[in-house]
Amino acid sequence: MAKVITLTCPVCKCKFDKALKEYNRQIKNKGEDYIFYCSLSCYGKGSAYKQIVGKYINNLNKGYNNSDKFSLFRNHLKKVRSRCKASNKLNYDIDLQYLYDL
Ligand SMILES: [Zn+2]
Repeated sequence: MAKVITLTCPVCKCKFDKALKEYNRQIKNKGEDYIFYCSLSCYGKGSAYKQIVGKYINNLNKGYNNSDKFSLFRNHLKKVRSRCKASNKLNYDIDLQYLYDL
């Protein structure tokens, strides 16, 4: 019988066996901190959440910390600016305060 290593799935908390050969191969390819999951569905939940949503949340927090009452409108103003640029109408008389007052 092949050697196995018992790992705990970080998503469903179940214990599962992984072939030691496969384990070493993944560690070699993906680094020491590679996380193993018991199944593909747990892998989907775990890795997608940590790597994609985790990054997304970090970005959100960054945005939140720098935000003020005008933050919601900055994006709109940016759009207005680029649209004015695109249509060569360089004059626009709105600013953040104007959008905020709306
Ligand atoms: Zn699992």
